[in-house]
Amino acid sequence: MKVRVLGTAAGGGLPQWNCGCPSCTKARAEGTARTQDCLAISGDGRAWYLVNASPDLRTQLLGAPELMPPEGSRDSPLRGVLLTSAELDHTLGLLSLREAAGRLAIYATQPVRAALHADFPVGPLLASYSTVDWRVVRPAETVPLEGALRATAVALSAKRPRYATGRSRPDWTVAYRFTDAAGAVLVYAPGLAAPTTAFADTIDGADVVLLDGTFATAAEMGPGSATRMGHLPIEESLPFLRAHPGPRYLYTHLNNTNPVGHPDDPRRALLAQANAGVATDGQVLEL
Ligand SMILES: [Zn+2]
Repeated sequence: MKVRVLGTAAGGGLPQWNCGCPSCTKARAEGTARTQDCLAISGDGRAWYLVNASPDLRTQLLGAPELMPPEGSRDSPLRGVLLTSAELDHTLGLLSLREAAGRLAIYATQPVRAALHADFPVGPLLASYSTVDWRVVRPAETVPLEGALRATAVALSAKRPRYATGRSRPDWTVAYRFTDAAGAVLVYAPGLAAPTTAFADTIDGADVVLLDGTFATAAEMGPGSATRMGHLPIEESLPFLRAHPGPRYLYTHLNNTNPVGHPDDPRRALLAQANAGVATDGQVLEL
């Protein structure tokens, strides 16, 4: 299994365009910017899939050699996109894939697919430019992908985007557990709301777990903010990681308010004790 981490920031990225807070100012000064949450994954190094499509997608694709079209071709190794939610920072990039030459599949749960055909009509918009194959993903069902990659969605929370009007369902936000022919396992969970036993089962036997690092603390954006926004803060997930040793843990989806996003943050020593680190833009993983 080959993985390239394309983007590691929450919505808005780091720094945010209209923010002069200490963290954004530091990121500007030190060049430690992060683009928005996106992952590329392949079971065989030839057929690639994105997990989420960030607003920064074009720049991210241009920086990933394995996603470039073979010289002289109009072909792309990109076979599809799996969505973990309908949030704008996970879906705006779909519009940048409108030139796809007809082989693109988009995997989403039923409420996410519905939102992307009504409230934010990406589906009808893309249909004017390209042939997109929308496929509904159901939690606990395994989806076979090209290159002997398999993906299983795991329901994480009922948190839906602010723009969406659909009813509450437990699969508005999901994680994916990927496996390849050799048995490598990677879990991608940028929207982890709670350290449930279901999530413990999901990461059981995983080699690498990329998980929600939106906030360092529960009240980073005001009392109760992390829970309200559907993100388990690092201070609450770290004990869970320590209780489930085995995988290599990497935090991703870091908000601009999160000090752990900066390489010199002292909290990183605590992460290391739990076999955890912080993912970086462009990071390559081979499992
Ligand atoms: Zn800021």
